[in-house]
Amino acid sequence: MALIVQKYGGTSVGNPERIKNVAKRVARAHAQGHKLVVVVSAMSGETNRLVALAKEVQANPDPRELDVVISTGEQVTIGLLSMALQAEGIKARSYTGPQVRILTDSSFTKARILKIDEDRMRRDLDEGCVVVVAGFQGVDDAGNITTLGRGGSDTTGVALAAALHADECQIYTDVDGVYTTDPRIVPEARKLDRITFEEMLEMASLGSKVLQTRSVEFAGKYKVRLRVLSSFQDEGEGTLITFEEDIKMEQPIISGIAFNRDEAKFTVLGVPDRPGIAYQILGPVAEANIDVDMIIQNVGQDGSTDFSFTVPRGEYERATAILEGVKTHMGAREVRGDRTMAKVSVVGVGMRSHVGIASRMFRTLAEEGINIQMISTSEIKISVVIDEKYLELAVRVLHKAFELDQVVS
Ligand code: ADP
Ligand code: ASP
Ligand code: MG
Repeated sequence: MALIVQKYGGTSVGNPERIKNVAKRVARAHAQGHKLVVVVSAMSGETNRLVALAKEVQANPDPRELDVVISTGEQVTIGLLSMALQAEGIKARSYTGPQVRILTDSSFTKARILKIDEDRMRRDLDEGCVVVVAGFQGVDDAGNITTLGRGGSDTTGVALAAALHADECQIYTDVDGVYTTDPRIVPEARKLDRITFEEMLEMASLGSKVLQTRSVEFAGKYKVRLRVLSSFQDEGEGTLITFEEDIKMEQPIISGIAFNRDEAKFTVLGVPDRPGIAYQILGPVAEANIDVDMIIQNVGQDGSTDFSFTVPRGEYERATAILEGVKTHMGAREVRGDRTMAKVSVVGVGMRSHVGIASRMFRTLAEEGINIQMISTSEIKISVVIDEKYLELAVRVLHKAFELDQVVS
């Protein structure tokens, strides 16, 4: 008998029929004698609807109140799933994040989990009850409702699994595992049976939304056995996130391609080339809590230089306003912004022992006439920033160039 945490995403609980199907799946695992904690997302589209609703009332919603609104989607699905489980003859009890007491910090809309009370869940489990928990939400020390960032139900699932020392955390979604890239963009993408935790962390943080980045971080920190599976198929082992590279197996050099459309780029032209410019430009941006990703400072000429960096597209307006102030203050010539950028990354632990990956990537993009605007690398990934209109083409040609469509024997 195992203790399993199962998490079902929005599409998997998208209508009453699907919720009943989830209940049947949970019932099967229950009948096998497992103890089950089930985390659910809001029904698909619901969180977007709630965000839009809030914006109709307040253009820039107050973060505390926004969390009050957007956390409600999950409350509906926990109740419905518990009812569906009861209809299957199973004892089930639902809890919101605050009811469990998933304690978080107070960073509304992107709160971090600090502590989880497991007593209540354990008591229910010991009574043979299935515990159904709302994903994506918690409560801060002062009793305010918080949410964990978009896609945050994955993190709830993994965090509960860590707190309860579960045998496995199963993330059920609308694909049957982690693929070499998003199968919606490249139909030839292949499902991976395993992916290392390090690679999954890179893939997630570089834009593969199949798992929220924080859920992978959590799994790494607390050594949670994590698996991604389909909620629509009965068969299949999904993808296991492993902690060790399988040394027996020949590693592919590249395991996957991640991408992110939501990038914007700024270039500050003609800034005086002297110590402290990076700080003077990026300091105010950081103070406004805007994440800066790639940064390039050009070689200076005649005492001045250009400075480029990327930010999330949603921050474009705020960053523009800040940079106009910086420009005046520093006496820079011009600020240029482009909000239609995208980032494509190739990821693989095999890169550590192979050379020539970057040149293969750049050649492939050049052959398609795709201009690379920025580059950044780490030990196991290479990312490039390109014009968004070439994104899908870039992902497809790179997928082919790195032979990710070929079955590894
Ligand atoms: P859920 O609602 O279940 O949380 P998400 O939409 O958050 O589901 O994540 C699943 C989606 O992630 C898939 O439908 C797929 O389009 C996308 N995705 C992006 N990259 C990958 C990848 N490498 N492997 C599998 N799915 C991916
Ligand atoms: N419902 C939330 C969202 O849409 C959390 C989740 O689905 O993981 O982002
Ligand atoms: Mg998700």
